[in-house]
Amino acid sequence: MPGAGAGWSAELASFDREHVWHPYAPLPDPQEHLPVVGAKGVRLQLADGRTLIDGMASWWCAIHGYRHPRLDRALAEQLGRMAHVMFGGLTHEGAVRLAARLIELAPDGLDRVFFADSGSVAIEVAIKLCLQYQQALSARGGRRRPGTQRTRLLTIRGGYHGDTTGAMALCDPVAGMHHLFRPLLPEHIFAPRPPAGFAAALQERWREQTDALFSRHGEEIAAVVVEPIVQGAGGMRFYAPAYLAHLRALCDRYGALLVVDEIATGFGRSGRLFACEHAGVSPDVMCVGKALTGGYLSLAALLCSEEVAAGLSAGEGGALMHGPTFMANPLACAVAGASLELIAAGDWRHDVARIERALARGLGGADAIEGVADVRVLGAIGVIELDREVDVARATRAAVQAGVWLRPFGNLIYAMPPYIIDEDDLAALCEGMLAAARACCAQSRAVA
Ligand SMILES: *Cc1c(COP(=O)(O)O)cnc(C)c1O
Repeated sequence: MPGAGAGWSAELASFDREHVWHPYAPLPDPQEHLPVVGAKGVRLQLADGRTLIDGMASWWCAIHGYRHPRLDRALAEQLGRMAHVMFGGLTHEGAVRLAARLIELAPDGLDRVFFADSGSVAIEVAIKLCLQYQQALSARGGRRRPGTQRTRLLTIRGGYHGDTTGAMALCDPVAGMHHLFRPLLPEHIFAPRPPAGFAAALQERWREQTDALFSRHGEEIAAVVVEPIVQGAGGMRFYAPAYLAHLRALCDRYGALLVVDEIATGFGRSGRLFACEHAGVSPDVMCVGKALTGGYLSLAALLCSEEVAAGLSAGEGGALMHGPTFMANPLACAVAGASLELIAAGDWRHDVARIERALARGLGGADAIEGVADVRVLGAIGVIELDREVDVARATRAAVQAGVWLRPFGNLIYAMPPYIIDEDDLAALCEGMLAAARACCAQSRAVA
């Protein structure tokens, strides 16, 4: 293999295929991975000189685009001070300022912050925090019958909360392949999936089934954990705010905490700063990640109320029992601080509304393609759902030929571009999505 700095080569490509795991992939991996040598604005630059419009924002993260001067500068300046320092017994300006900014932006009542290294870890911490809080409460003879243990969680079907085992137990049991990992996974309680549609009314049948789960298990439920309004990797589905409001009411009635997983939706993606705002709901715990650093580094955070923090801290352990090695990494905090400064400036509001209009316009024609089952847009998220599995290789090739990077899964071709994408690139992005849909549908017909 040529030495470092020699650039991309056929040797690196074959080493990659043989030795390096990629997400949700076998090894060796028969699928081609496109080598990226640089990225700027909304464009990825490939080793062969082509550039692609990034429709994925690197999985919801790169909301301000690549190599944003403000983010680059924040990172470089922090590097001049220190890359990392432990957070046990020590602290630093970037972490404290970032926590203050998060509290300022977050829904009312969330003013205690825990920094985690990734979204999945933030979910793990949320689970531990809720269990510790409920234990502390019951030890003090709190609001429920003695002898009951609140050790279970309730979620809705069709969700995705991460790949670590605690988080996996909350993912949809079928799509999350719970059968592969059964011995590792606690059995939580699954409410039905709310019917699709942001504008849908609260369905009586869903309400009855969910209420019944609470009347049966209400004393066992420590917390309800859900993605608010947008279910991402579980199917790119939108549900109506009334469902989240109803879950909030049930939590209040039965003494469960409400945890909202805003890891994908946080920081404007759904058209509100946080998706739970669509329902006017303040959760007890909120997890953010993905776009927190503008896509530069892995960092997540959990926010909770003063009541939860104080209740837990008065309990048996006297402390939240979690402390990752790279907690509140200063580089990650510095770039997250810069990213949230851009968010606080407020341009995202105009940009997300503009993207929503362009996606609705540009994907409108998809309905006419035979094999397209549904087209939906919410905020800066556009989805084409097929009535069949997407042939990922074929769809990717068609999109790349149109100058667009997409990463379809299941029967979904979808995009959530950086907020800075302009009108021409949005039109091209929509064309790329349509080309990918056509490629899958034409091929399936040929096979059938
Ligand atoms: C991506 C995601 C996670 C997991 O985050 P990682 O940083 O990949 O561990 C959790 N919840 C939701 C809703 C996500 O989209």
